[in-house]
Amino acid sequence: MNSAGIVTVSYIAATILFILALGGLSNQETARRGNWYGIIGMAIAVLATILGVVTQHYTLLLVALLIGGSIGLMLARRVQMTQMPELVAILHSLVGLAAVLVGFANFMDHSTALTGVELTIHSIETYLGVLIGAVTFSGSIIAFGKLSGRISGKPLMLPARHFLNLGLLLVAIWCGREFAQQAAVGGGMVPLVIMTVIALIFGIHMVMAIGGADMPVVVSMLNSYSGWAAAATGFMLSNDLLIVTGALVGSSGAILSYIMCRAMNRKFLAVIAGGFGTGGGTTVSGGEVEGEVVPIQPEETAELLANAKEVMIVPGYGMAVAQAQHTVYEITKALRGKGINVRFGIHPVAGRMPGHMNVLLAEARVPYDIVFEMDEVNEDFPNIDVSVVIGANDIVNPDAQEKPDSPIAGMPVLEVWKGGTTIVLKRSMATGYAGVGNPLFYKDNTRMLFGDAKDSLDAVLKAL
Ligand code: NDP
Repeated sequence: MNSAGIVTVSYIAATILFILALGGLSNQETARRGNWYGIIGMAIAVLATILGVVTQHYTLLLVALLIGGSIGLMLARRVQMTQMPELVAILHSLVGLAAVLVGFANFMDHSTALTGVELTIHSIETYLGVLIGAVTFSGSIIAFGKLSGRISGKPLMLPARHFLNLGLLLVAIWCGREFAQQAAVGGGMVPLVIMTVIALIFGIHMVMAIGGADMPVVVSMLNSYSGWAAAATGFMLSNDLLIVTGALVGSSGAILSYIMCRAMNRKFLAVIAGGFGTGGGTTVSGGEVEGEVVPIQPEETAELLANAKEVMIVPGYGMAVAQAQHTVYEITKALRGKGINVRFGIHPVAGRMPGHMNVLLAEARVPYDIVFEMDEVNEDFPNIDVSVVIGANDIVNPDAQEKPDSPIAGMPVLEVWKGGTTIVLKRSMATGYAGVGNPLFYKDNTRMLFGDAKDSLDAVLKAL
């Protein structure tokens, strides 16, 4: 077999492995295997490209691989679980940047002489690759800023913002026409640069207009864009593997965005249009809610738990901050040892990234068969004796159902207040990510266990 044949076979193998990886990642039991499929697929893809496609500049390539690989390794080792969403956002920005740079490089490279329709098609591929890449790049940087708290989570509401977007879109389309025409006679740089600037502004504006509580959708949406940018680059470079991989990332990101929207009861277009949601959890008051808060101590908590028959644990972002998952599992074991039925109720947007809580619980080796999705357990709360809310806030906020003008109105929430007693672990009365007060904390059957979740749970475990 010649080298082109080997590359094709390797690419097909890599494609199959990527599909198996996605399939594996859809389930906790198979996620680890899915990851391995992905790693092996990517190793095959990179090796086949280096050995079979690249023909010169090996030194440059190796140096770039070494630098990029080391930075990636260092970041992955250093990053805290709570910073994962930011890391994902900034990595998406790199995919976008790569698409832009490859697009420009490809445009300026005149070694392959295309003519006629082929040239027009190639120009459109280049244009789209740069366009989607630039939107992904600037949008992801803003998303990184918002998720890491460097930029306010408040939606930026420019007057006539929809018209601004429409105007930008029209100019981008016009530039595209100009670009295709000028490229046919050897020009086109000016419209390409103008469009790149417009796409960068559009990416910034699009994510700036999206409010704090809608950020989960933004992260998955940018994930999808980064896939389409890669697919467009694949068309431009006539690289089948890049097209397929890009399409896989693009469509799985789109499906994830849809799932997140459904989980938050939002319309996808309404999220993209922006303007919803408030700041990012910096308010240190209890919001506008008033009433009496009843604190509880770890010893009393242990007693309540030990006397319960049905316990539901609802983890949220605070469990990730406190790294309390291992203690949570120790407590679970102790309670199950006493014959108590302990289950976990996981909200789809708990934490700061899709699947955040599942990852933490899996790390602590909590058995999968006691971890349930919100829809599977929400009707059971009237039968629950004690619910333990660990560093969760927005996902257990009754206002989502009861207050139509709340920024989180309509978002499905875990109805913990319908159970016997709810114990909420957090450090203060501060709001969560959406920046809204939570009446749950003031309900008659709620007890607040104040303090860092890990410290509080260690004390509960000791008392147990
Ligand atoms: P929230 O952000 O609503 O609340 C987390 C709570 O944890 C805070 O109120 C905080 O209170 C508490 N907390 C923080 N650190 C600790 C600690 N060390 N010990 C104990 N408590 C702590 O989190 P939820 O998981 O309830 O909801 C997720 C929110 O994030 C939703 O609004 C969602 O839309 C949004 N989001 C989700 C993404 C996703 O993909 N899942 C992505 C981006 C945003 P205190 O300071 O008083 O301790």
